[in-house]
Amino acid sequence: MSDSDIHLVDSKDDILSLKSNGREVIGLDLDLYGKNLHFDISVGTDAVGLEAIVPVARDICDKITEVVVRKNIEQGERIPCCRGCANCCNYLITASSAEIFSLVEDIKKLNSSFYKYVQRNILLACQKILKKKPPEHFDHNQLNDLSDWYKSLNLGCPFLFEGGCSIYDVRPISCREYFIKGSPNACKGKRGSADVLDMPVSIANVLNDFCSELEDQGDTSIVLPLFQVWADENSQRKMKKFPAEYLVRKFVELLKNAASRTREESLACCN
Ligand code: SF4
Ligand code: SF4
Repeated sequence: MSDSDIHLVDSKDDILSLKSNGREVIGLDLDLYGKNLHFDISVGTDAVGLEAIVPVARDICDKITEVVVRKNIEQGERIPCCRGCANCCNYLITASSAEIFSLVEDIKKLNSSFYKYVQRNILLACQKILKKKPPEHFDHNQLNDLSDWYKSLNLGCPFLFEGGCSIYDVRPISCREYFIKGSPNACKGKRGSADVLDMPVSIANVLNDFCSELEDQGDTSIVLPLFQVWADENSQRKMKKFPAEYLVRKFVELLKNAASRTREESLACCN
């Protein structure tokens, strides 16, 4: 474990020994459907880039979606989403700047022929996007419209390989928290045709807010096929370092605020 590493404490870790080795352990409690979901996050002492938060954000996201999916199944819903099911990979996927910086490092670990395959897909995507710009008349804030335009480019995701996700363990958070109810056939149509599972908190949105605030930028969502181009053009942003404890406390604060906002909204709509 290095001093730049930020990770969830698991049952094998001893919190006291982590602390005696100079690491901070930051707790996070989330109320999910009236039950407490507790996390301990172990933080080193080094200054780190924004991308250092991504592994922990992925793990928290997976634990939240696990609870949500289990609850829906207990209520009799059919949740067809699984590894290898990939029609939704033709929709528009975005990721925050922190995730893009992390992804750039992750794909360097791919074997060289696969790395070339991904680079070729990215180049093709750039060509198609430049050639067929979105029609001027539609509202760019409408994610479904934008996604339908994107789908018309027949791009698919640059990481789709033989019908499955080739970076499954490090896939973006928007992919990790996208689940539907019912039949997977609903994902063959336009975005918006399927009955998407509501998440009590969107980690993708939290991560976007986190990046916007720390980088002092507007929305930092980046269209996935353009991730490499964007990272190359914004390489100076990756150089910025923050105290790791500050990053984690900020992420925890934004996550708790987002979860309590959703809870208040759902209480307000029930009253
Ligand atoms: S959202 Fe649709 S295509 Fe994607 S994994 Fe779930 S069922 Fe399969
Ligand atoms: S990253 Fe993986 S899961 Fe996400 S859209 Fe691409 S292929 Fe699908």
